[in-house]
Amino acid sequence: MTKNEIYEELLSICEKENVLRDEPMKNHTLTKLGGKADFFVTPVSYDQMSEIVAFTYKNDVPFMLLGNGSNMVVRDGGIRGIVVQFSKLNDLYSTGTQVVAQGGANIIDASRLALKESLTGLEFACGIPGSIGGAMAMNAGAYGGEVKDVIDHVTVVTKEGKQLKLTKEELELGYRTSIIGKKGHMVVEAVFNLEKGDPYKIKEKMDDLTYQRESKQPLEYPSAGSVFKRPPGYFAGKLIQDSGLQGKGVGGAEVSTKHAGFIINKSNATATDYISTIQMVKEKVKETFGVELELEVKIVGEDPAE
Ligand SMILES: Cc1cc2nc3c(=O)[nH]c(=O)nc-3n(C[C@H](O)[C@H](O)[C@H](O)COP(=O)(O)OP(=O)(O)OC[C@H]3O[C@@H](n4cnc5c(N)ncnc54)[C@H](O)[C@@H]3O)c2cc1C
Repeated sequence: MTKNEIYEELLSICEKENVLRDEPMKNHTLTKLGGKADFFVTPVSYDQMSEIVAFTYKNDVPFMLLGNGSNMVVRDGGIRGIVVQFSKLNDLYSTGTQVVAQGGANIIDASRLALKESLTGLEFACGIPGSIGGAMAMNAGAYGGEVKDVIDHVTVVTKEGKQLKLTKEELELGYRTSIIGKKGHMVVEAVFNLEKGDPYKIKEKMDDLTYQRESKQPLEYPSAGSVFKRPPGYFAGKLIQDSGLQGKGVGGAEVSTKHAGFIINKSNATATDYISTIQMVKEKVKETFGVELELEVKIVGEDPAE
């Protein structure tokens, strides 16, 4: 199919303002990097989403789901096909001791709603800048808590367009992985099981975690958070620090001097700068400690044409 034919089809499903052509991904990733997506679509209903999924599946058009882009590095050549973001499918409410969130809601907002309703369990998420869908795909976690501890079930749509309800066990939540990422399921809604708590204690914990984050992480610069997973028996940040890499980087990208696990976009970095810095860190840590660092961030898209 030509780009114009794909565009016409998308316009028959979604409102024009929700279908962007040649959209720079740096506008939608927290690293502020990345080339253009052929199409960037923000459906406003699950019917629209299902139609897009059916259309891409039937016509073999490449399709990618983006959450808040807080764990993504998009290469400078951009993304072919359609990027869909659920940012306009972001309802959030509580019922009894449960919080129910659509896939495009922010997990930070879910954590704030829990506080408002005096519900404890989501405090750990108060500074994770991801969407509910991204948090479920990654089994996001921080400061001793993770999504796995509080999830009841998730409603997903499969690549073939089938709706499924997955229980906690069926989600196969592990360290920064889940069945969602492995199978490419799309998270429509997640239901969290929380407990009644003391709002003063909940707020105190959230304030403490926010303080720890702000004092230890370079939140003043664009980044994708921790670039690497924690290798068994080590801390990635400590290995990088002890390899003497803080303040080093390629082009505008740099290993943070505040938290060695973060690579920041210090001054107009390209994705190529960022990825070259990742490579430099991997090689130096391997050479110094013999440890193979595994990526937590996802690198997607194409290299720029020569
Ligand atoms: C400053 C900073 C601090 C961070 N701190 C933490 C932390 O403490 N703990 C932690 O775990 N992470 C942390 N992160 C990383 C990131 O916020 C999490 O991994 C988050 O869960 C990613 O969510 P997202 O919506 O941004 O997903 P994206 O980065 O947009 O996507 C990540 C993956 O999720 C998939 N995805 C997105 N939406 C959906 C959906 N609706 N259905 C199915 N799959 C979907 C994407 O396809 C992709 O594979 C941090 C990042 C930054 C920038």
